[in-house]
Amino acid sequence: MSDYKEMWSSLGLDLETHDAVLNLVGKTYQDVFLSQNNRPKGMEYFDFVVSEIHGLRIKELLDAKAEGRKIVGTFCVFVPEEIVLAVNAICVGLCAGAELGFEAAEEYIPRNTCSLIKSAFGFKLAKVCPYIEATDLIVGENTCDGKKKAYEAYGNIVDNLYIMDIPQMKSEAGRALLKSEYKKFADKLEEITGVKLTVENLKKGIETVNNKRKAILRLANLRAANPVPISGLDVLLANQVYFYDNPERFTASVNAICDELEQRIEKGEGVFPKDAPRILLSGCPMAIPNWKIPNIIETSGAIVVGEEMCTGERGSQKLTNDNANTVDQLLDNIVDRYFQIDCAVFTPNQTRYEHIKEMAKKYKADGVLHYSLQFCQPYQIEAISVEKNLEKEGIPVLNIETDYSQEDIGQLKTRIEAFIERLKK
Ligand code: SF4
Ligand code: SF4
Repeated sequence: MSDYKEMWSSLGLDLETHDAVLNLVGKTYQDVFLSQNNRPKGMEYFDFVVSEIHGLRIKELLDAKAEGRKIVGTFCVFVPEEIVLAVNAICVGLCAGAELGFEAAEEYIPRNTCSLIKSAFGFKLAKVCPYIEATDLIVGENTCDGKKKAYEAYGNIVDNLYIMDIPQMKSEAGRALLKSEYKKFADKLEEITGVKLTVENLKKGIETVNNKRKAILRLANLRAANPVPISGLDVLLANQVYFYDNPERFTASVNAICDELEQRIEKGEGVFPKDAPRILLSGCPMAIPNWKIPNIIETSGAIVVGEEMCTGERGSQKLTNDNANTVDQLLDNIVDRYFQIDCAVFTPNQTRYEHIKEMAKKYKADGVLHYSLQFCQPYQIEAISVEKNLEKEGIPVLNIETDYSQEDIGQLKTRIEAFIERLKK
């Protein structure tokens, strides 16, 4: 890696803690990813991206800022990237998947807050996230109660927070709220970038994001094959990188992997034996470097064939229709697309259950592992219905509740291995 110390210093990072974080991520990546057998050659691109996770991409963002472009940080797939790109800004995901700075975070939010929220505070307070420091605007969205209230405290530690309200019901009023929030967001973006939304730039933004979604969905679809041509870990990584890579380069790299996998499928090649139990993951998002559960599954003889998560198909399914002649109509199309996201903060949320069932069928899953973070009420409550609904239809379910610590790995492994044994019968 080139020497980025000066760049990190200029962003105000704590170099010592930051070095320790990068070393830990590098070591974990080596153990989890590089130890896998028969990975597609195209994954070398993602190895490079991870090795430069706080290097090259940050340099690109800072170069773009020097040219006058703005960086918008997000914590949720409800923030419409199409609009961000349309005004020539860049979208980066800020969710983190590691336990860091939690003690400092607990001075702002209670101990019983989910790890996703805590890490957003921890990474800022420990001064280890160059993405947070590179942003011109951070969007906090009112989804679950935990996030909604935590953003009030987050406003004390960052000075560029923008709050977007999100409906809780899929009603006409809910849709109208989302439309008015997206309009307000567009106004804010126009104000900070000095770029007006036009039919042309909005259509271009839609096209870029749709292409990214098409590529990641193409990758997902190839996992219906048996044997599966790529590990669940590698696909999760692509889904995680989706949130901060250059969109065009990401799309091209994922499509190149898909070309390679199609050849593998033709030759009947896979990464796991044909009879390996196939597991669908469902639940809370897994932000980088949270690879704990898929790593346990795939080192226990089973393979992950899909992710019903925001770092997976819940986030990327459905394209935005670009068939319209005015900015307002295009905004309507964007609202239509995002309004279909079946996050557990919505009530009722029937389409999520249907989507899990559809995915289990499509990817020929032998069972579903439902993953919720500790203290995440929306997903923990839905986990009970997911289990009841699917078990009734003969689909075995394992409900796992965990956090970002490594202390429960032994216990999780025992439960996951027992589940895999059940799937073999
Ligand atoms: S789970 Fe819900 S709140 Fe979290 S990123 Fe997804 S849509 Fe947003
Ligand atoms: S994991 Fe659950 S509690 Fe945490 S931010 Fe997401 S929805 Fe909220």
